[in-house]
Amino acid sequence: MKLRIAVLEGDGIGPEVTREAVSVLTALAGFYGFDFRIEPRPIGGAAIRAEGTPLPRATLDACLESDAVLLGAVGGPQFDALPADQRPEAGLLALRRALGGFANLRPAICYPAITDCSPLRREVVEGADLLVVRELLGGLYFSEPRGFDGANRESAYNTMRYSVQEIERIARVAFDLARTRRRKVTSVDKANVLETSQLWRQVVTRVAREYSDVILEHAYVDSCALRLVTLPTSFDVILTENLFGDILSDEAAAIPGSLGMLASATIGGTVALYEPVHGSAPDIAGQNIANPLGAIATVAMLLRYTGRNDHAARDLEVAIGDVLAAGFRTRDLVRRHRLTPSCFLVSTSEMGARVRQALADVIDQRHAYHAV
Ligand code: NAD
Repeated sequence: MKLRIAVLEGDGIGPEVTREAVSVLTALAGFYGFDFRIEPRPIGGAAIRAEGTPLPRATLDACLESDAVLLGAVGGPQFDALPADQRPEAGLLALRRALGGFANLRPAICYPAITDCSPLRREVVEGADLLVVRELLGGLYFSEPRGFDGANRESAYNTMRYSVQEIERIARVAFDLARTRRRKVTSVDKANVLETSQLWRQVVTRVAREYSDVILEHAYVDSCALRLVTLPTSFDVILTENLFGDILSDEAAAIPGSLGMLASATIGGTVALYEPVHGSAPDIAGQNIANPLGAIATVAMLLRYTGRNDHAARDLEVAIGDVLAAGFRTRDLVRRHRLTPSCFLVSTSEMGARVRQALADVIDQRHAYHAV
């Protein structure tokens, strides 16, 4: 595998967790003989400080010339007073727009060792492993017309619009991904009320005929929201439009229990963007206590979706599970700040080192198995 990867650490804990993700990439390159060209570039507040703009031209160009972009997080209270279009978040939004990805993928996995971190009961989350596939460029967030009416803004309106082509392309992403998993798609809409949802349901049903090996079910968004926290194990791939996906993917974060565990990928555009779900966490920045596992899990997604190497991605995911099973925890994974005797509190950098060691062990064990 030969990849050019633009690395945008960003702000707050962004540099801390991204450093660990990049160390894992370097370790993977050594273990498997991959050739990764890492190109660090500033974005967000760091770029404002260095170059006066949250998305410098050179950063955008480097991203567009790369095979993948790995991002930490942007933002911080020191930039909150800036006008909206000059804030760090504006740089990230402009980057997302330029890369053009229409499919946002967010896995929510319950690692057996940390079921206690979830606010949901152990028996509810145990075994949960789902993927939310969210349409990212259409629907209520982007459709026109939108605006305010009246001299004193007496009313406001937005439009939810979807074309057949937009629904078909995101549906195909979901069905293709379901084929690599447990072959089930739950398409989420509000077809009992919304015309866009009626079209959504009709098009998804038609696309499903091309995937006779994948089970399709339809669910209304309200019942899906309830089922996510009562029976999350009943889902494999959740396919949904922009607004519903925004809400459901955040709700699914209750499954692993810590924001620091969540990874995401945005694909379908010129270059795929990989980023942990969390923000820059200014409250814990610079203390070496942030959880880097979400950022490291984004590396597994990069290997899978851009590198097309499921094998290496799975090795890394097994390594993450092994480190948790061995009892290593960053502070966010210690429930009510009480460590059990079999758990060990580790720093951001130590967690990264543990994952690299576990990855080496996973690979060694396989070699030993094949040598027998
Ligand atoms: P946040 O995700 O940064 O933090 C929320 C809470 O989760 C905090 O208590 C934080 O300490 C904790 N947390 C987050 N990631 C963690 C990790 N890896 N390990 C341990 N604990 C972790 O959200 P926020 O506080 O609402 O936003 C802070 C800043 O981040 C804001 O400026 C916001 O605009 C920005 N933000 C950026 C992104 C992004 O870059 N994609 C996403 C969300 C928020």
